[in-house]
Amino acid sequence: MKKTFLFLTSALLLLTSCLSLQPQAEATPLPPATATQPVNLSTFKAGLNPQYHAVIDELSNASLYQIDFVINDNLYQITGKQSVDYTNNEKVTLNEIHFRLFPNILGGKMTVNNIKVNHESIEPKYSLNDSLLVIPLEKPLQPNEKINISMEFEIIVPRSVDLNYGVQAYYSDVLALAHAYPMIAVYDDEGWNAEIPPQSGDVAYADMSFFIVTVDAPKDLVLVASGIETNVEETGNRQRVRYEAGPVRDFYLVGSPNYQEFIREVDGVTLRFYTPGYMQAGAEESLDYAAQSIKVFNEKYGAYPYTELDFVSTPTLALGIEYPGMIAITDWIMEPQMGYLEVTVVHEVAHQWFYNLVGNDQLDEPWLDESLAQFATMEYFTERYGEEGMMAFRRELKGRWAYVGNEEIPIGLPVRDYSGVEYSGIVYGRGALFFMELESFMGAENFSAFMKSYVANNAWGISTTEILRLEAELSCGCDLGELFEVWVYR
Ligand SMILES: [Zn+2]
Repeated sequence: MKKTFLFLTSALLLLTSCLSLQPQAEATPLPPATATQPVNLSTFKAGLNPQYHAVIDELSNASLYQIDFVINDNLYQITGKQSVDYTNNEKVTLNEIHFRLFPNILGGKMTVNNIKVNHESIEPKYSLNDSLLVIPLEKPLQPNEKINISMEFEIIVPRSVDLNYGVQAYYSDVLALAHAYPMIAVYDDEGWNAEIPPQSGDVAYADMSFFIVTVDAPKDLVLVASGIETNVEETGNRQRVRYEAGPVRDFYLVGSPNYQEFIREVDGVTLRFYTPGYMQAGAEESLDYAAQSIKVFNEKYGAYPYTELDFVSTPTLALGIEYPGMIAITDWIMEPQMGYLEVTVVHEVAHQWFYNLVGNDQLDEPWLDESLAQFATMEYFTERYGEEGMMAFRRELKGRWAYVGNEEIPIGLPVRDYSGVEYSGIVYGRGALFFMELESFMGAENFSAFMKSYVANNAWGISTTEILRLEAELSCGCDLGELFEVWVYR
């Protein structure tokens, strides 16, 4: 049967909806959060592909978050308690620790109280529209020194999807909680790295961490989260579910009373899609695409890191959004005839390698995950449908670049330096075409070796443009300065 290729023409397909939600005013008394327990990190092996078990020891100084969420019956008020074991993995002494409070710039509100460093109360400072919580340390933290930082928090979740694609929202019977805990910022060559994210791109930039999370929620809410579920208790109309996730860059949690589960297995990975039953066709088709793309990417880039990959349908304004071990797909493309499902699912699956496994500053160097996810999608189309699939996806990439008149705008700029249409045309279009150019310049064999070594050498860490260029130059034994000058920097 002839395959008809239909692709999206813009990443910024914004929708408005006439749905309105009636908040349920009644509040339930919140049960106490569970106490923080000492943790043996080897417990996280259960959710990891056995090939990666050694990373648990390598990342034994990564942050360990223990979070207890309580979701109110009205589904938009949340309280929480968080304890983080944080080690100074930098080469410098730290006088402050910076946490992001993303709800304060995603349309909701997050308040934090009772902050303690090693059980001593401390007064924080706030900036970036209260999205940055600065914790001053009475005693500076030396390299390799460990501290515990605990706090309590409350979140009012927005009941709209107006900001940042609606990544954090209670809307259309779906509670989507992206970045819904105080998240430690990355300390890099800029120092503590934090900014207010532009509307076009991704919000968070984070190091690999471990998470032990309990979620206390109404029993009828079907909960889906990063990592693996390790315990469920039910009392009356409430449930308490425990998750373990890590190493991951973020913890994503979604709930809906309408979700049904659809399952698939591929190469030792359990794939689950959560969506209302009437979207079953879209879920099954997505699971096919996910399974096929995992096979292709396992082969080309190295093994998928976890034992599970969960999909949820949400009312997000993006077509799809990646999280560690989880992917959100927007409701309206779940109808397979819309033609957006395959390219969206495959692009988001590719982010499990480029964004999660190999991290990058998604605000300053978005091309490192977005252009690579687009290029990986093209590799999938080539593997799956041959020359015709490759040509069709290349036309899509060229079409995106043509939106900005094929202007030679560099692909390596921060999100904030592009207009919305440039971000789509350059980072999602021209950026992927750059990797085709790089492949023909280096030769197919060198290029394939480069992609494998780039992932293997930077897995669990954070890459930069210079690291990617060096890996490529090592693989081809050639100077890529001029090529990078023409496409990436200039
Ligand atoms: Zn993407």
